[in-house]
Amino acid sequence: VARARIVIIGGGFAGYHCARELSRQARGGAAEIVLINPTDYFLYLPLLPQVSGGLLDPRHATVSLPATLPDVKVVLGQATAVDFDARTVSFTGPEDIRGTVDYDRLVLAAGSVNKLLPIPGVADHAHGFRSMAEAMYLRDQLIRQVELADLTDSAEERRARLTFVVVGAGYTGTEVAAYGQLLTESVVAAHPRLAGLTPTWLLLDTADHPLPGLDPRLSRTAERELRARGMDLRMGVSVKEAVADGVHLSTGDFVPTRTLIWCVGVRPDPFLDSLGLKTMKGRVVVDEYLVVPGQPRVYACGDAAAVPDLTRPGEVTAMTAQHAQRQGKLAARNIAAAYGVGEPRPYRHHELGFTVDLGGGDAAANPLRVSLSGPVAAAVTLGYHLLALPANRTRVVADWLLGAVEPRQPVQLGVVEPTDVPLETTH
Ligand SMILES: Cc1cc2nc3c(=O)[nH]c(=O)nc-3n(C[C@H](O)[C@H](O)[C@H](O)COP(=O)(O)OP(=O)(O)OC[C@H]3O[C@@H](n4cnc5c(N)ncnc54)[C@H](O)[C@@H]3O)c2cc1C
Repeated sequence: VARARIVIIGGGFAGYHCARELSRQARGGAAEIVLINPTDYFLYLPLLPQVSGGLLDPRHATVSLPATLPDVKVVLGQATAVDFDARTVSFTGPEDIRGTVDYDRLVLAAGSVNKLLPIPGVADHAHGFRSMAEAMYLRDQLIRQVELADLTDSAEERRARLTFVVVGAGYTGTEVAAYGQLLTESVVAAHPRLAGLTPTWLLLDTADHPLPGLDPRLSRTAERELRARGMDLRMGVSVKEAVADGVHLSTGDFVPTRTLIWCVGVRPDPFLDSLGLKTMKGRVVVDEYLVVPGQPRVYACGDAAAVPDLTRPGEVTAMTAQHAQRQGKLAARNIAAAYGVGEPRPYRHHELGFTVDLGGGDAAANPLRVSLSGPVAAAVTLGYHLLALPANRTRVVADWLLGAVEPRQPVQLGVVEPTDVPLETTH
């Protein structure tokens, strides 16, 4: 008898946990599970600011798919089309491999990508922050700017090179700026000719406070801690134009800089729009069982899906790792239920709180709605990530311990060129 084949598109929080739960449910080989993802790892995105901040070894923020999902067939590649009538997914892989795989059940978990706003010069002069390549590029860029600031005789150029602008004060921008500031301060300290100079970090957002959309107490804590650290927070401000040697702000100010980091937000992967399914702000519409209406064999979850939030009627769930992970797991269980194992259940999940890591033993967190700051919040934040990480815990802890006693290693690896990480989404 042919085994049921379940195909999952995307190996992020939703797809990874869906595949893992399906392997548990299908122990004994009751189903064939196929996971299509462009990389052979699941990227644990919340640790990426620690990579660009030079604290974490890049590999330690990744989780090997083949090593941790031994019962899953991992297809390295990008899904390019779905034929819902023939029940097939086409994909392209490395070395021009092209293929088609048929499915009995399909899970859409393609996540999201950087959002580019039509602001002049941004596509040319800014870099996004979502992939490993972007994090490695940024780490080099921060070190490079300090090293070039040391080389120049022009005070003006030195100031510009030591100025870093992050646009978007959501959790990504806030954490990238916080970790970036610590890295550049550590690298400046290793350059005696720069003694007395402090890198300037600007964090901009059109909202009137950082971490818009999160608990206001979390946002107040982060704002207080970052200002105390000397970060220049400019709220209610956006970028009017980016040029090679700086940014024009909506206030009319010009900030000379060579580093513009674009963390303005994410949008669902454009691949989802190409499927011809009903979408809401680019996310595939599903019912509370994560099933696509009219396509009983197709499920969607995570950032890719507009999942009704039963805890906030009329709303859809936020684009967070917490929701993506739980939805992935539920999609797996509901698929098992479709084969007679258990009962299908609707998605209902109250946010358990949020953590924002500010580096240097500092964080803002509100686990179970208790507002925390400083080292206690940092311990909760790092502890949460350790528990949530499916692998590499010892390696990550080793990096944190080394980072607490050693300065950051000020070397550029130079493996990612700026042209390798254009802000424009290319697929
Ligand atoms: C820097 C950063 C920090 C964050 N920190 C937090 C945090 O602290 N807490 C929190 O709750 N959330 C955080 N988030 C948000 C969280 O990471 C996302 O909500 C989460 O990753 C969504 O999971 P997902 O599985 O839906 O998508 P993703 O994790 O984006 O995974 C999607 C996967 O699908 C793959 N894919 C895309 N298109 C295709 C295709 N056509 N074919 C095959 N594969 C495809 C992608 O390569 C990727 O591997 C952070 C995000 C970023 C960028």
